[in-house]
Amino acid sequence: MFLWKACNDSLPTFKNLQKRKVTEDKMCPICHLEEESVTHVLWSCGAAQDVWCQASRQLQKLSLEGTLFESIWGQLYRKLPKPTLEEAGMILRLIWSRRNDYVHGKELRHPKEIINKAHEDLQCFRESNSKVLTATLPACHQSPQRWKKPPDDRYKMNWDAVVNTSKNLIGIGAIISDYNGLVLGTIISSLKL
Ligand SMILES: [Zn+2]
Repeated sequence: MFLWKACNDSLPTFKNLQKRKVTEDKMCPICHLEEESVTHVLWSCGAAQDVWCQASRQLQKLSLEGTLFESIWGQLYRKLPKPTLEEAGMILRLIWSRRNDYVHGKELRHPKEIINKAHEDLQCFRESNSKVLTATLPACHQSPQRWKKPPDDRYKMNWDAVVNTSKNLIGIGAIISDYNGLVLGTIISSLKL
């Protein structure tokens, strides 16, 4: 849901809040150099770039252009293989929550900490997914299922959940796609039972 909001320019950045007359200031609360648009906070702000510089090599080398985040995400989607795209999704979500923490008075977390957390969450998500596939699907259903696109102008959410009884955790992962199959967002979460 986070990426869906980002692509629809509906994250509550200062620029968007100022447009809705909620705040007067529209500048980035971290660098104070530019308006805080969705693209600025997630990609072009120096603080965001400090994080991207620590990510995997394919992400470090990317040069993306555009002012709308929808276009930035479209370029990521076209240029990156799926595992790196998943990593990018995790990092984007964590850059946003790091910014929120900072706005609410916490210290700006170190870029390395963000990358480590992104990789941990990704590993947890992948382990959960592979356990769901091997543990819950009967053998006769293990052939790959063809993804069916939703009707035009609709979105589709595919999801999986797994229970890890030894750690008392439930993991949930979901992916939202549009009718062209373009991935708009991923949701990955784990909860204590
Ligand atoms: Zn900034």
